[in-house]
Amino acid sequence: MTNSTTSWDHTVDLLIVGSGAGAMTTALCAHDRGGKALLIEKTDLYGGSSAMSGGSLWIPNNHLMAAAGVSDSPDEALTYLKTLTRGTIPEEKLRRYVETAPQMLKYLTDHSQLRMQSMLTYTDYYPETPGGKPGGRSVEPEHFDARLLGDEFARMREPAVQELVMGRVSMTATEAHHLLARHPGWIKLTTSIMSRYWFDLGGRLASKRDRCLSLGNALIGMLRRSLMDRNVPLWLNTAASELVVENGRVVGLVAQQNGRTVRIRAEKGVVLAAGGFESSDEMRKKYLPNPTETEWTTANPGNTGEVIRMGMELGAEVELMDDAWWGPTTVVPGEDRARMLVIEKGLPGSIFVNKRGERFLNEAAPYNDICKAMYAKNTPEAPCIPAYMVFDGTFRKKYPCGPFFQASQQPDWMLPKLFKEQHYLKKADTLEGLATELGIDGAGLEASVERMNGHARAGKDPDFHRGESLFDRYYGDEKVRPNPCLAPLDTPPYYGIVVYPGDLGTKGGLMTDASARVLTKGGEPIPGLYAIGNCSASVMGHTYPGAGGTMGPAMTFGYVVAQEVIGS
Ligand SMILES: Cc1cc2nc3c(=O)[nH]c(=O)nc-3n(C[C@H](O)[C@H](O)[C@H](O)COP(=O)(O)OP(=O)(O)OC[C@H]3O[C@@H](n4cnc5c(N)ncnc54)[C@H](O)[C@@H]3O)c2cc1C
Repeated sequence: MTNSTTSWDHTVDLLIVGSGAGAMTTALCAHDRGGKALLIEKTDLYGGSSAMSGGSLWIPNNHLMAAAGVSDSPDEALTYLKTLTRGTIPEEKLRRYVETAPQMLKYLTDHSQLRMQSMLTYTDYYPETPGGKPGGRSVEPEHFDARLLGDEFARMREPAVQELVMGRVSMTATEAHHLLARHPGWIKLTTSIMSRYWFDLGGRLASKRDRCLSLGNALIGMLRRSLMDRNVPLWLNTAASELVVENGRVVGLVAQQNGRTVRIRAEKGVVLAAGGFESSDEMRKKYLPNPTETEWTTANPGNTGEVIRMGMELGAEVELMDDAWWGPTTVVPGEDRARMLVIEKGLPGSIFVNKRGERFLNEAAPYNDICKAMYAKNTPEAPCIPAYMVFDGTFRKKYPCGPFFQASQQPDWMLPKLFKEQHYLKKADTLEGLATELGIDGAGLEASVERMNGHARAGKDPDFHRGESLFDRYYGDEKVRPNPCLAPLDTPPYYGIVVYPGDLGTKGGLMTDASARVLTKGGEPIPGLYAIGNCSASVMGHTYPGAGGTMGPAMTFGYVVAQEVIGS
């Protein structure tokens, strides 16, 4: 922090640090309200984790669900969030979110390139909680044609590898679910997606990157195009390094741009939208529960938390620093980020076990809860970190898992050599043999599998209730009866992979109020300073209400900042 500087290289109304979905929404809405906005991005690519993501937004009571005839109301959404956050988040802030999120979505739909579609069958993560919904609150981007970005496409951060088929082909979450569930028409859909990719001759000659964008790349593409239409500048390779304060007010910042220092004045405010600290080894070990490693995150390598520290130096309070948008991940040889196990963990014929070979959770539960259980149940006597995902030959044959397709399409002999060299996928003819490969207790594993096989036959898991929630069943195999999340593990060979408590980003950061103003330890706003997205302590507290629970708020509070700081 520096106390005022007289020489400025550049002056704007609103200076936004970061280039994710929240940052872009702030800039776009500030511009539309007559403000001069500038985005600065530390890395040489824009989009952050938002570009790598699934692109879904959790927007209760949105106009798309209304159009589809699904009822919702701010009160129902508030009840849901209040129940899940258990009094830890001020009601005013929750209310601001549920009331403003649908306005934000409608505004962007009417005034920008953003085109979202309703995920009508994707349930809230806790649909049985009061106020929960069986679908419609999560929305995802329609496809977006990357050619509309011209050269800017090459400067967009690529999707996370888990978001692509064969590391290249992109599809919406709705399409992916249709294919996985093998709903009628799935063969035709597969053919059309693959031919669309391979017959894009211009694209194939240029690179392997799919130009028909979906998910986070589509979201960021739509927002980037909208900013280009408005000539709102976005500077790459420009890292915020110090906030500048004049008479107690944040009036700008110092940034490092391609090796030189630039001083940028912000007449109306600085918005910190620089993501969390998931890629900082030091901050992870200091704030998150241990053990933890940067290798376990799926998120953007540029999110290293220094901007949160800049706020702390100014006296800002932080909250939720021990929490993240958790999810079980697998570290795949040859890939530079971990992959999250979202779908496969709930499919029948698999279990998660600890080092004693014992099950310790409902594998089909929301991914956030899996890691919470891994930490809560991790003891020296029964280590749960890492955990082990074990499955049998039938599961391997039928379902994709982590980096590989089902064996009916990609048998073991077709797996990359690196997997074998680095013993990534453990395999044995017996459970005892597999336990030895994994370094876990064989008798424990055999007992767990035997017990699970009994549950599978009965269609009920009295131990952990797998398959009881509508959410669990969304990722189950609807052809498996009576419980789409349970099947016996009785067909050799047996397989296992190592599972870590990974994340999609951290969720702790600067404490903000309902206007996204950064607050001091005493609860006073720091004039001129705002924070949104994973830089700020999440409005969702320790919960994860549904798909899009992270970017929905980032974009909504960006919209709020533009509304309140620039005015109408
Ligand atoms: C594989 C995957 C799937 C996901 N799916 C979803 C989903 O479907 N829905 C959802 O809501 N969430 C999803 N998430 C989580 C979501 O992507 C993030 O929580 C969200 O994008 C964070 O937004 P943000 O604006 O805080 O940060 P980001 O989008 O990461 O943007 C922050 C940017 O700030 C830049 N930056 C950092 N430090 C500085 C600095 N000093 N100066 C300038 N710039 C800086 C970073 O390089 C980065 O580009 C997913 C994440 C991943 C990885």
